[in-house]
Amino acid sequence: EREVALAEADQPATTTDGRTIPVFANVGSVQDARDARGADGSGLVRTEVLFGDRRTAPTTAEQAEVFRAIAAALDGRPITIRTWDIGGDKPLPFLPQPPEANPFLGERGLRVFRRRPDLLRDQLRAVREVAAETPVLVMFPMVTTVEEVAWGIEQLDALGSRPDGLKIGIMVEVPAAALRVGRLAERLDFVSIGTNDLTQYTTAADRTNTAVAALADGLDPAVLQLIATVVSSVPAGVEVAVCGDLASDPAAASLLVGLGVQELSAVGPQVPLVKAKLRRLAYADAAALATEALDCASATEVRELLKRTS
Ligand code: PEP
Ligand code: MG
Repeated sequence: EREVALAEADQPATTTDGRTIPVFANVGSVQDARDARGADGSGLVRTEVLFGDRRTAPTTAEQAEVFRAIAAALDGRPITIRTWDIGGDKPLPFLPQPPEANPFLGERGLRVFRRRPDLLRDQLRAVREVAAETPVLVMFPMVTTVEEVAWGIEQLDALGSRPDGLKIGIMVEVPAAALRVGRLAERLDFVSIGTNDLTQYTTAADRTNTAVAALADGLDPAVLQLIATVVSSVPAGVEVAVCGDLASDPAAASLLVGLGVQELSAVGPQVPLVKAKLRRLAYADAAALATEALDCASATEVRELLKRTS
């Protein structure tokens, strides 16, 4: 099965009833981009992973060079650069954080840069530079409020007029953002649902704590309901992607498509398998599956449903 999927990796993921779902790759290194066979681009460049071993902040030029290399490894297909996402489980040596009682509820993602806008702007300069040469999307992580979206956009626009074609989005990974995406996304081109954090915050179960791993299940109907809410409430024309780990599981990926998600981003080696699965799928059946899943009592029931129907 893997061989067939690999042989067809470069074919688009078009369902049997003619809906094409771009399948992107999550990337934390240039090598990840090279390994992403058949990816339609990158739906998530984890910049904090790219530069995770740096003792000093990388310059704009250093960042631009790595972004260029990733774009080249993906044959110039679109890359989605996520601005520094640090805090919680992700320390960054060049930006030490004071100890916090609840790091996952503390200064994470975009929140950190309210006190270091200089570091965010250096990164956004690199984004702008590369966006003038190759298709680029930029997205802000850990956004909760409309005011934070406005602040992120302000940091970008302070650097000058936007390069043609640069798309702007946010991660939807906080339940408040999922519930209010109709307002949060008013000035955006896309949103990308981070199911890892969305699951953690919806179930109040730490994603790194194995004692509560069973609770932190991305197939929990509460998480699926939030995804459905995002799809139904984004402003017209705003694309909805999923870049959390749920998109890397072919069965869950079909469910996401059924919920109305338009794009997926998976870990590189899973891209051909997710694409192969979607090619065998009728969108109408996926939509029926999603309706059934939303009616399930638990993640376990959803998982059984997926097993039964795949
Ligand atoms: C997520 O939260 O789902 C996500 C994709 O981001 P990360 O795993 O890097 O927090
Ligand atoms: Mg996240």
